[in-house]
Order: sequence, then C-alpha cells, then structure tokens
Amino acid sequence: MSEPALPDGVERREVDGEERLATRGEPVYGEPTADGWRAWDPERSKLGGMLELGFETGLTGGETVLYLGAASGTTVSHVADFAGPTYAVEFAPRPARDLLDAAASRKRLFPLLKDARKPETYAHVVESDVDAIVQDVATRGQADVAVRNARFLADDGRLLLAIKARSEDVTAEPDAVFEGALDRLREAYEILETRRLDRYHEDHLGVVATPR
Ligand code: SAM
Repeated sequence: MSEPALPDGVERREVDGEERLATRGEPVYGEPTADGWRAWDPERSKLGGMLELGFETGLTGGETVLYLGAASGTTVSHVADFAGPTYAVEFAPRPARDLLDAAASRKRLFPLLKDARKPETYAHVVESDVDAIVQDVATRGQADVAVRNARFLADDGRLLLAIKARSEDVTAEPDAVFEGALDRLREAYEILETRRLDRYHEDHLGVVATPR
C-alpha cells in the first residue's frame, strides 16, 4: 500500500544533508533550513511524527485549523506554513510570548491566550466548521478537551490528537490509559486510526477521528 500523500506545502526536501519533512517559512526553534524550507523535526512534534509514520491525517493544505496546546509554536508554525487560518490556543503566558514571535511572520496564524477546557471563551473568535483540530495539550483530561472542542469541527473534519499516557496517570499501563481516553472520545467522535508514536514520542498515542 502506498503512503498517504503529504499536504500541499509539506515536502520531503534535502535540508542540512538529509532528506527531511519540511515547510516553507521563517525558522522558529533553531531548525535547519535550506532555500526557504525549514526542517520539521518529528522528534519535537507529535503531528510531524504522525506524518512521518504515514497516518491518514486528511490534511491537504489550505484548511482551517484549530490547534490546542500550541506552546511556543514549534508545530503550529509548521501548520500555519501550509494551512489556511490557524487558531492557536495556549494558556501559559510564557510560551505564548514565543508563539507571538512565531506568528509575526505568519499572517494566517492567530495566537489565543485561552484555556482549551473553556471553548466558550474563544467561540466568538474561532470560525465554526474548522477542517481540522490538532491537539497536543499533554495534561490530564486530554480526551475531555477534544470532546469539548468538537463543536468547532466540520462534519467531515478531522481530529488529529496526541495522547500522552503519563499526563493522565504516571503509574498506569499506557494501553489502559489509551483505552479509557478512546472511550471518552467516542462520546463525540468516530475513531478512524490509532497508532503509538513511540518511534518519536514515548508512551504517546496518535489518534485520527471525525465527528459522530
Ligand atoms: N504542541 C506543541 C508543539 O508541538 O509545538 C507542544 C505542546 S506541549 C506538549 C503542551 C502545551 O499545552 C503546553 O504549552 C501547555 O501549557 C499547553 N496546555 C495544556 N493544557 C492546556 C489548556 N487547557 N489550554 C491551553 N493550553 C494548554
């Protein structure tokens, strides 16, 4: 079976002597660049890992994205390089300052200093029917955050979620944690694909889902 296509605007390019996933834009986290392309490091990005592992993300380029847990902008800056309007929610002021720097050269990236558990606080800003929600919050209640934000997603949209087992329970078996999270997700989503991201991110599960 052939690998799913990468979104338009994401390519495998030779950067710094190696073939790497890359997007076009200003560098953000000291990543190597070549000819305007910036390497997208799958070890620093759950979504980058999902693309490297061949998940069917449904991303084609140019879509509207709601990104939950943007931190200082490592992954969301790559997303905004190839997507359309990209709303980046982060509740910690410190990384959000760096996120503002990443947004300075990206006119489609809109940082929101908001709590992803309270979607009603940004519902007036984020357009409804976004094409994709990308979530990497790495805090307890990860599935709950995804369920609360399902209201923004178009009927045929995609949730691209990374679940970090240790953020839910440091002592439990990751597989048991993932099963519990998937059960909660099923209240609002149909699960399309799940796979461990261990090659790049230990004890993380990658999930692709669509609204029920
Ligand atoms: N996704 C980022 C990347 O790849 O560049 C890394 C995200 S880091 C693992 C998780 C981030 O989620 C942290 O910056 C944390 O402050 C943020 N976060 C956790 N819970 C949140 C919430 N309820 N609302 C908004 N941000 C949250």
